[in-house]
Amino acid sequence: MDFPKQFDVIVIGGGHAGTEAALASARMGVKTLLLTHNIETLGMMSCNPAIGGIGKSHLVKEVDALGGAMAKATDLAGIQFRILNARKGPAVRATRAQADRALYKAAIRTILENQENLWIFQQAADDLVVDESTSQVRGVVTNMGVRFLAPNVVLTAGTFLGGKIHIGLESHSGGRAGDPPSIALANRLRELPLDVQRLKTGTPARIDARSVDFSVMEAQPGDTPIPVMSFLGSVDQHPEQVSCYITHTNERTHEIIRGGLDRSPMFTGVIEGVGPRYCPSIEDKITRFADKNSHQVFLEPEGLSTHELYPNGISTSLPFDVQINLIHSIRGLENAHITRPGYAIEYDFFDPRGLKYSLETKSIGGLFFAGQINGTTGYEEAAAQGLLAGMNAALRAQDKESWCPRRDEAYIGVLVDDLITNGTSEPYRMFTSRAEYRLILREDNADLRLTEKGRELGLVDDERWAAFTNKKERIERESERLRGAFIHPGSSAATVLENKLSRPISREYSLLELLRRPELTYNDVAGLVGDAETQSQVAEQVEIQTKYQGYIDRQKEEIDRMRRYENTRIPEALDYSLIEGLSNELKQKLGDARPETLGRASRIQGMTPAAVSLLLVYMKKRS
Ligand code: FAD
Repeated sequence: MDFPKQFDVIVIGGGHAGTEAALASARMGVKTLLLTHNIETLGMMSCNPAIGGIGKSHLVKEVDALGGAMAKATDLAGIQFRILNARKGPAVRATRAQADRALYKAAIRTILENQENLWIFQQAADDLVVDESTSQVRGVVTNMGVRFLAPNVVLTAGTFLGGKIHIGLESHSGGRAGDPPSIALANRLRELPLDVQRLKTGTPARIDARSVDFSVMEAQPGDTPIPVMSFLGSVDQHPEQVSCYITHTNERTHEIIRGGLDRSPMFTGVIEGVGPRYCPSIEDKITRFADKNSHQVFLEPEGLSTHELYPNGISTSLPFDVQINLIHSIRGLENAHITRPGYAIEYDFFDPRGLKYSLETKSIGGLFFAGQINGTTGYEEAAAQGLLAGMNAALRAQDKESWCPRRDEAYIGVLVDDLITNGTSEPYRMFTSRAEYRLILREDNADLRLTEKGRELGLVDDERWAAFTNKKERIERESERLRGAFIHPGSSAATVLENKLSRPISREYSLLELLRRPELTYNDVAGLVGDAETQSQVAEQVEIQTKYQGYIDRQKEEIDRMRRYENTRIPEALDYSLIEGLSNELKQKLGDARPETLGRASRIQGMTPAAVSLLLVYMKKRS
């Protein structure tokens, strides 16, 4: 049965990738269908109820700068906000919010249901319609046999493809606890020319807060003033704020875990997929860091209207009896009631080297992949890819050229470039250390880096655009004002400064010059002459841009140097085996990855500057 409407873009899956993909496509004026298993689970957080953190908040703010939903929903659902690395430089500062799971889901659903050009349909996608003669996708068939037609399909099936849940040596099929897996679709995808592999991830048991002794734990309140996530967000939008609590595993906990390893699916070889290195299970941690006799456990509230707690740090797939004992061995959790067991899940993912930078698959025209199925882990990584894939699917529907930010423009660019160039053999998560231009790619300036482009692409609405242009003008005006306002020796303002610096002010200084001094902040100098800026986002920008100007300029020069060859295109049919002097390993890697540009080739693991020049010389000779 054909559905009466023809769509331009169909998005399969209503998780973090799918919702941003559908919203981006619809925002661009393209007729979009979001087809998902269950409308009640739109925007559901499968694992920890938190958004942001180091490297991840950079992605969230970039998604926000491009008009996405994740940061807005976080402001409406965040129950504890913190700035991580607050004492370090602005490049690595990151916002993290504990989110009320139910409020987050509700916020995402409201945004989706009020988005023009977006239709939602609840049903499993079981099949893809592919025109084999042209290798183009044509639509999707649901498990009820309904055919939805569209020339562009974005697949964001998360951990559901061939999903297998493990608790101890028992296993069953599942997409995540409580949800069915996608078996039919997984089988169909295995028939297509795509490179399918397996990964795994895990989650801890959940605990009833009424059975926890918080008096023996350290409380961790959020920051004051309370941060916000979205560039359009405000503190008044936040619900009630609560604390998290910290406790620790101990020798006894580790003994219990070691005693259960013979029934661990990971350690007995039952699970074949590789797990997330940076979010390891507790059994992984005590084995890998055998000399540590304690690990931190953060008890994070799942929401304001529930007693459930998420014990962050003890993700596990050990048998349930071991889970109970290990939790009861932890201080304050001696009588804890477990509401849901922890588990691991194995699922299909596709080698991301099979993707173009638009996230369209190389082998099937119009088929885009985003989120966990590309080998990543995390809501933020999924949202970033979702937005990009949805946007590029919409561009394709409009017959326009695709777009992806470069590595020096956005963490989204770093993420996509890393994935499609090097692939991944373990769940990939974002870190600031993955970006070479960290000082330029800060979370605080994501809007200044991307909102103009987002507006041009049709992703940014009038409200965001007005707020952005106003902010930009105010930054310029305030920087000018500081440049033109002077402190004179002997003035009362100079005396205030002398007290602060314990040094005499011997000559005339502009406020901008003073702000460059490491010991002075914007608040110290801006009001000495005239009125300081009242908008905190503007003041923050002026301060960072002034203090780090020298470093930022140097990084920009480096980017210009790199860009000269970054965009040099490599012919698609280039035969790498003919390049003399290149190692067989690199010939093979380049042949597999088929990088589109010299910049991408240079980032393939093992590529040295010498190998890049060999490639460049060969290309010049050939042309
Ligand atoms: P998901 O959020 O999984 O969304 C997939 C969506 O697709 C769902 O709505 C699903 O119903 C729908 N869907 C699937 N197949 C079909 C179909 N055939 N038809 C229609 N709809 C379909 N991340 C971390 O950062 N750290 C962790 O420690 C961590 N642990 C995790 C542990 C577990 C057990 C799980 C399940 C996930 C964990 N995650 C973790 C990962 C995090 O949940 C994902 O990275 C993130 O949700 C991925 O977003 P996504 O949109 O790609 O997929």
